[in-house]
Amino acid sequence: MDKVLDGQIALITGASSGIGAGVSKSLAAAGATVIVNYPVAGTKEAAQAVLDEITSAGGKGIIAQCDVSKEDEVTKLFADIVAQFGTLDILVNNAGLQRDAKFEDMTLEQWNTVIDVNLTGQFLCARAAIREFLRRGPRPEVSSATGKIICMSSVHEQIPWAGHVNYAASKGAIKMLMQSLAQEYGDRQIRVNSICPGAIQTPINKDAWSTTQAYNSLMTLIPYNRIGKPQDIGNLAVFLASDQSDYITGASIFIDGGMTVLESFSDNG
Ligand code: NAD
Repeated sequence: MDKVLDGQIALITGASSGIGAGVSKSLAAAGATVIVNYPVAGTKEAAQAVLDEITSAGGKGIIAQCDVSKEDEVTKLFADIVAQFGTLDILVNNAGLQRDAKFEDMTLEQWNTVIDVNLTGQFLCARAAIREFLRRGPRPEVSSATGKIICMSSVHEQIPWAGHVNYAASKGAIKMLMQSLAQEYGDRQIRVNSICPGAIQTPINKDAWSTTQAYNSLMTLIPYNRIGKPQDIGNLAVFLASDQSDYITGASIFIDGGMTVLESFSDNG
């Protein structure tokens, strides 16, 4: 792979598993120095395993603990990154979770947990990244853009999702967070885009692919007839972080094997 991200510093939140781990590996393979974020002590080993894979392939990075829903922890994470690396070039706002329930049974705690991580976490990290991009100004030696933010959204910013109202609401809100930021900071050459994955094989949706019956049922929703892999998302993240996508900002890019163009989605929900 071309080292299109050589000399750039990238933070990937929620990177000890799934899509965040895949994106970290892809960005590192493209030359970025990656900060592999994990939320709590219990996920440190998994984050270290991701970093070990990166370094044994010749990549560079560190692991860093931070709960993205906590303002003080996000502030400290960004201060540490600037102290160690001088600045940040790329933020991948990936951390996310689900707390599923029928709407009539959904507790305020389930609602708040999802909004706190999936939405407020992206707000806090995006704000810290924008502040750093504005403080530092352009770095034409590494990129045409002053900074790049990639928000991990979902097909569920567009497809309603019964039984997952808190999750769908958080992703719908990410669409407007992303577009409004792209509008507000375009004139400072800060690019903000969303990746909207369909079904990607990760721990978050294990129930949807871990048995043959579940997998076959999932395939009725996916015209391309395979589940997505974290590497698919990693490839898109490299493109969105690089100057190859220099004229793209404010875009939601769907990467879903055709899920969003399948008319019968609701028949299978
Ligand atoms: P995952 O469960 O493997 O990854 C989520 C990561 O977020 C985990 O590593 C977890 O430790 C981390 N995390 C949770 N709370 C955190 C916090 N407070 N601070 C920092 N990190 C925290 O699942 P995934 O599928 O890799 O999900 C990654 C992102 O992709 C999420 O935003 C999810 O909504 C989105 N997504 C996934 C799919 C899919 O099919 N897998 C589809 C659409 C969107």
